[in-house]
Amino acid sequence: MFVGIQQALNYICGMKEYFGLLEKYWGFKTFRPLQQKIVESVMQGRDTLALMPTGGGKSVTYQLPALAAEGICVVITPLISLMKDQADSLREKGILSVSVHSGMSPRQVDIALDNCVYGDYKFLFISSERIDSDIFMARFARMNISLITVDEAHCISQWGHDFRPSYLKIARLRKVFPDVPVLALTATATEEVADEIMENLGFREKNILRASFDRKNLSFIVRRTGNKPEHLLRVANNVQGSGIVYVRTREKCEKISKFLTDNGISSDFYHGGLGYVSRSIKQDRWLKNECRIMVATNAFGMGIDKPDVRFVIHYDICDSLESYYQEAGRAGRDGKSAYAVQLISDEDGIKATERLERDFPPVSQIRKIYESLFNFFQIPLGAGKGVVNSFNIFEFCSRTKIHLPVVINSIKILQHNGYMMLTDEADHPPRVMFTVSREDLYRIRVDKEELDYFIKVLLRMYTGIFNNPVAVNLSEISYVSGYTAQKVNEFLKKLWQLHIIKYVPGNKSSLLIFTEERLPVSDVRISNESYGIRKEAGIRRIGKMVEYTGENIDCRSVFLRKYFGDKDALACGKCDVCRTGKPKTLVLGTIKNGIIKLLNDGENELRVIVSKMDGDVEIVLAAIKELVEEKKVVQRMNRLYLPSGS
Ligand code: ADP
Ligand code: MG
Repeated sequence: MFVGIQQALNYICGMKEYFGLLEKYWGFKTFRPLQQKIVESVMQGRDTLALMPTGGGKSVTYQLPALAAEGICVVITPLISLMKDQADSLREKGILSVSVHSGMSPRQVDIALDNCVYGDYKFLFISSERIDSDIFMARFARMNISLITVDEAHCISQWGHDFRPSYLKIARLRKVFPDVPVLALTATATEEVADEIMENLGFREKNILRASFDRKNLSFIVRRTGNKPEHLLRVANNVQGSGIVYVRTREKCEKISKFLTDNGISSDFYHGGLGYVSRSIKQDRWLKNECRIMVATNAFGMGIDKPDVRFVIHYDICDSLESYYQEAGRAGRDGKSAYAVQLISDEDGIKATERLERDFPPVSQIRKIYESLFNFFQIPLGAGKGVVNSFNIFEFCSRTKIHLPVVINSIKILQHNGYMMLTDEADHPPRVMFTVSREDLYRIRVDKEELDYFIKVLLRMYTGIFNNPVAVNLSEISYVSGYTAQKVNEFLKKLWQLHIIKYVPGNKSSLLIFTEERLPVSDVRISNESYGIRKEAGIRRIGKMVEYTGENIDCRSVFLRKYFGDKDALACGKCDVCRTGKPKTLVLGTIKNGIIKLLNDGENELRVIVSKMDGDVEIVLAAIKELVEEKKVVQRMNRLYLPSGS
């Protein structure tokens, strides 16, 4: 890798600096497995795809090289909430960083981008939609970019489970700075998806660093049952500690949480339909163990880092092993024993396939919706290119009498084909109103000085806030008050809990942007890539999920790890299949092969061989015993040998 001595020296000095930074900013003395390799790879200027399970410590791998290098690192993330969290936590370390998102006014965006061009900023967080904007691209080209980081990089894969078309635009950033390394981070990618990520990001050479997906402390359990509630109760009663139950729908969240509560088990529910404030109160209570089990949709969990989750139960089947593994992996982050339970009934697979069918409405219907959308905005044939419309999708549905999911899914496919784009760029800001009078406010003693100051800031910034709900801008409040956005949220929540303010969370109305002029419906082309192939990929993913829950696999953990490209995975000894002892012969077979391989590689010491085989010690010993009996291996004292002549 090194061109000359000087570079090698720079490299070694650089490494020292890295450890210094790790301790200075994070207080960590050592790197986690693979972190160091990723950091080194990036530092050598190589494009790098890093695969690491959630909670594995991906943030450090881009933050550290960026801190050591000159210039600014641009980070692309799919979710505004994740972006804000990361930027806030860097700011708390005293590192200048800024995020640009749809909640900001054009002026704020301007200031932020200027800071990145002229200031000493180290991190710029953006969503992939941003890349579309000329204003952004012009400024970007003038920045001193050190590293391009793509978080949740699997979103760039068309065949992946969470494709976002705007992620494809990241390649443009790459083109502006062809020599700046790209670091792509994700927790889930099959080999196919990994290849696609590297290709779509224009990697100069293939370079994957893959952490082990082994979670030794996790027991993967599948329970096939006609009575899911009963099994749910059984797990909740038998396993102590905090847990998550994932269900598909919002209604089910509430229903199942009530069912648990009725049975004397502390629980709450969480889904995307709840307002910001109640979501964060619920989440806090769960984090502090004031509530034991959270029943939630997949809206819950991203970015949450609770180490002592003892079980994650999937009440319904997931659409892919990618989502399953990510959600189940939230159990047992502390390394202590934990359970990942999938409840399954005979119809689940069929239902999942039916849902997928609905994701792909018939092409004739997609075309009809195309036409209705242009009619809705009264745009004639040949016109409409570049037109941005504020889009009330509910109104559209009620006028056309088409079901919401059909409309959303059709627009998604039209978007794939480059006809239009649906964004959530238009935010309606949250609103605040004081529910006590000005006089009462002075009478109520808010005991915290900080909160008092915060109220003063609010009153100064927003006149009329006593009589009307006033639109507030959280990042502006954060700027004026000097508190982080997170702190501002906490204060607002507190005031709401004290019945001092009424808080209406912000909501979003989407923008529908036509990217091409209106065509006659017969000319609207739906490519096979956006339809047939993606549908097939979806069906394949469901098939894998169903296979995972089936009876015919050797070990749940092995199945999962192989799916994610870990070819040497050995039986875990603690999943439901391993526990029945059924796959023992199969497991023994793999272990025996592994032992022979080690012997061929020149390893003879029994103790080392046992420790290198990552299966249950007892199974490894049983395998050795069989090998000796079969005369395939000779044992002398604490050493093993291949018989001479073999
Ligand atoms: P990911 O993005 O992979 O899900 P994060 O970067 O959010 O993971 O890190 C998960 C947790 O691991 C964080 O709490 C972080 O502080 C911790 N962590 C990361 N690297 C180290 C390290 N080298 N030593 C100790 N803790 C670490
Ligand atoms: Mg992360």
